Amino acid sequence: MLNQIDALVREARLLRNSDPDRGIALADDAVGRARAALATREDDQARAALASALAVKGHCHRVSSALADAVAACTEACELYALVGDALAESLARSQWGIALVQLGDLSGGLAQMERSLDLSEALGNEEHVCDCLLDIGVVHNMLGNDARAIELYAQAASFFERVGDHYHHATCLSNTAYAHTCWGRRERAAGRDDAALTHFAQAQQHARAAIGLAQRGDDLDFLTLRYVALAEAEREAGELDACLGTLEAQLPITEKLVGKRTQALCLVALAEALIERAADGDDGSALGYLRDADRLCEANSLVETHAGVLRALAKLHETFGRATEALVAYKRFHEVEIRIRAQAAERDVKTIEARLRVEHVQKELDQAKAREQELTALNTRLRDQQFALERLAHVDALTGLANRRAWLESLERAWGEEKRNLYVYLLDLDYFKLINDTYGHTTGDDVLVATAQLVSASVGAHGEAARFGGEEFVAWVRVDADRDAVRLAARILDAVREHRWTDVAPTLTVTASLGVSAGRIHATPFDALSEADQNMYLVKRAGRNRMIGMRLPST
Ligand code: GH3
Ligand code: MG
Ligand code: MG
Repeated sequence: MLNQIDALVREARLLRNSDPDRGIALADDAVGRARAALATREDDQARAALASALAVKGHCHRVSSALADAVAACTEACELYALVGDALAESLARSQWGIALVQLGDLSGGLAQMERSLDLSEALGNEEHVCDCLLDIGVVHNMLGNDARAIELYAQAASFFERVGDHYHHATCLSNTAYAHTCWGRRERAAGRDDAALTHFAQAQQHARAAIGLAQRGDDLDFLTLRYVALAEAEREAGELDACLGTLEAQLPITEKLVGKRTQALCLVALAEALIERAADGDDGSALGYLRDADRLCEANSLVETHAGVLRALAKLHETFGRATEALVAYKRFHEVEIRIRAQAAERDVKTIEARLRVEHVQKELDQAKAREQELTALNTRLRDQQFALERLAHVDALTGLANRRAWLESLERAWGEEKRNLYVYLLDLDYFKLINDTYGHTTGDDVLVATAQLVSASVGAHGEAARFGGEEFVAWVRVDADRDAVRLAARILDAVREHRWTDVAPTLTVTASLGVSAGRIHATPFDALSEADQNMYLVKRAGRNRMIGMRLPST
C-alpha cells in the first residue's frame, strides 16, 4: 500500500510544474490511499506517506492557481510532517504554503510561513533551502515596499548560489535586486530626491547586466528575456532611452523564439514607447510598426491584457500625430478589451475572495478538530489512569503494595495448574503483633507491616510470589528444586525479619515471625496446601513462635 502511494507521489511530483492538473489527480489518489492506510495502521510511516501526498497535492494546486486547496493541503501536510519529525519536508511544504498565501493577497500570512520555513532550514543547516527561502521572503518584502530588506536578502542568497555555481538562481537574485532598486528609485523620485533615484537606477542596471551575463550561460530563453526586461526598465527610468532601445532590440529576436508570445508583444510595446518617448525627430514610423506587430500578435494569441496596453499605446500614438480617425478606432478597440479584462478580473476577484474564505473555514475546522482531539486524548489518558488505579486496587494491598489475597490465590492456582511438583506454600504470621500495636502505636504497626512485606517479597524474589494475606499474615508460593531449598528459603525469610534494623522504625523494637510451610506435591488442591501451611504455622505458635515448621510428609 505505502509503495503504491510512494509511486503516485513521485509521478505527481514530476508533473507538478508541467501538468499540475494531472498531478492533482494522481496526488488525490495518493491522499485517499494514504488516509485509508493511516486508518488501519496509525504509525509514522503512514503519516509520512499522507504528508508527502498532501504536500505534492498542495504544490500542484498552487501551480494551477487553486490557491485555497493548496493552502489546505499544505497546512495538513506541515502538521503531519511536524508530527513525524521530518523538518526538511515540512520546511519545503511551508514555502509552498507561504507562496500560495502571498498569491491570495495575504502578504503577512505568507511571510510568516516563509519565515518558519526559513527557521526550519536554518536549524537543519540546509543552506540551499535557506537561500530559496531568502529569495521568496525578499520578493514579499519587495511587494511590501521594504526594498532595502529585500536587497539585503537577495545579496545573502546570491553569494551562496554564486559559490555553488548555480547560475540560474544566482541570476534570479541579481535580477530581483535590479527590480528592487528600480522600485526604490521610483519612490525616491516621487519624493523629489532625483539624485538618490538615479543612483538606484544605476544600481539596477548594473545588477540586471550581471544577471543577463549569467542567464546567457543557460539555455532557458524565457528566463533570459525576463532579465532583459529588468535592464530595459532601469534604463528607461534613468532616462537613458538609447541604451533602453538597444537593450530592447537585443531582446526582441530572442523573444521571437519563445513559444508564448506575450513577452514578444510586451517587448514590441516597450520598443514603441521608448521610441515615442525619444521622438526627437518627430518620426513615429518605426513605433507604429512595432505597435501594429504587437496588435497582430495579441489578436492571434488572445493575449487580452497585453492587448489592452498595445491598443492604448496605439491610440495615443495616432492622437499625438493628429490621426484622429485611427485614434478613435484604436480607442474603441481598447475599450472593448478593457471591458473583457474588467469582467475577467472581477470574476477572478470573486474567486480569490471565495478561496480566502475557504482557507479560513478550513483553518477553523482544523483548529476545532485539533482542540477536540486534544480533549479526547486528555479524557482517554484520565480514563486509562483511573482504570489502571482500579485494576491495581483490585489486585494490590493498599498498605504494603504487595498482591492482595485474591490476586495471590489466582496466581497460586495458575502456578499450581502449570506444575505443583516443585511448588511450596508459606504462611507467615508476625509474633505478638497486637503487643507492637499496643506498645508503639498503630502507625508503627503499619510501618512494621510495610517493612515485613518488603522483606518477604525480596526474599522470595524470582522464586515465586508473596502477598499480604490479611492483618499481620503474609503468604508466598515458591518454586524451588527440593524440599531442602524450600526450607532454606523459609528460614531466610525468618532471618530477614528477625535481623532487620527495627530500631530505625521504633527504639527498642524487635520483630519476629512464625512460619508454616507445605509442599504442593502431597496435596490435591492449592487450598489443601495453604491449610497445611496454616496448621504448621499454628504449631509454631504453640511451640513458642519465632521459627518455622516444614511440610508434613505423607504417612505412607
Ligand atoms: P500471635 O503471636 O499469636 O500471632 O499474636 P498477635 O498479637 O500477633 O495476634 P493477634 O491475632 O492477637 O493480633 C493481631 C493484631 O494485628 C490485631 C490487629 O489489631 C492487628 N492488625 C491487623 N491488621 C492491622 C493493620 O493493618 N495495621 C495494624 N497496625 N495492625 C493490624
Ligand atoms: Mg494472626
Ligand atoms: Mg500474630
